[in-house]
Amino acid sequence: MKIQYLGTAAAEGWPGLYCNCEVCKEAARRGGKDLRTRSQAVIDGHLLVDFPPDTYLHMLYQGLRLPEVSSILLTHAHQDHFYPLDLTMRGHGFSDDVNGCLTVYGDETGEKLFHQDVDACDKRWGLAELLAYKVIPEFVPFEVEGYTVTPLLASHDRRERCLLYIIEKDGKRLLYANDTGLFPDATWEYLRGQRFDLVSMDCTMGRHKEGTNHMGLPDNAEMQKRLTEMGCADTGTKWVITHFSHHGGLLHRELEEAAKPYGFMVAYDGFTVEF
Ligand SMILES: [Zn+2]
Ligand SMILES: [Zn+2]
Ligand SMILES: [Zn+2]
Repeated sequence: MKIQYLGTAAAEGWPGLYCNCEVCKEAARRGGKDLRTRSQAVIDGHLLVDFPPDTYLHMLYQGLRLPEVSSILLTHAHQDHFYPLDLTMRGHGFSDDVNGCLTVYGDETGEKLFHQDVDACDKRWGLAELLAYKVIPEFVPFEVEGYTVTPLLASHDRRERCLLYIIEKDGKRLLYANDTGLFPDATWEYLRGQRFDLVSMDCTMGRHKEGTNHMGLPDNAEMQKRLTEMGCADTGTKWVITHFSHHGGLLHRELEEAAKPYGFMVAYDGFTVEF
């Protein structure tokens, strides 16, 4: 399995859209891995996780082949993860030779936003046949494009049912965990004894401990310890941290230094891992 991180920032991007702080200014000066767009990943080039407003940028500059995408796993409906208006560009009159129906899998909040935008479009665009939204229950595995996907509950915005995902295929298993703080009890319970080849974690808060809504490195270290104790990870497990905010205070180089003792790989836009 291959995961490519297309966007690795929190909601405001990094440098932040309107931010004047020194960390954002330094990111702009350094460029390269310190320029981060909003959160999105793609599995094996076609199974998308999230659909942020920067999706089109990811198509332009990172080789994302959107015409080949038929399924999107949505973690939650925050604006840095879901921008359904851009889905409507699949409609007749905007896109030619469109390849079947694209299905978004997610929670009820995402479903509401999806229908707000999609149902408001002109019927002649034909979106009823080109786009679908499927609400998925937590802890119930389902099949999509040859992958077994299991939604888990996150510790994030309590106004919606935010999801994390187990994605597995050909004996390889990925745990995709952002946005979230330390897992809620039901998720820990479900994970017991399940081993992962790659664990991808929220590190929004960089050097700071948080754990209730997002995580920082001290929380990631705690997660690593607990997942290892529970048999979910071992010396063969790869660890990636992503979804960074300027408020975490650490630029890419400094994040790599701080993450080294734990063996965490620090994602950047375009970062790809095979496992
Ligand atoms: Zn986010
Ligand atoms: Zn800033
Ligand atoms: Zn969020």
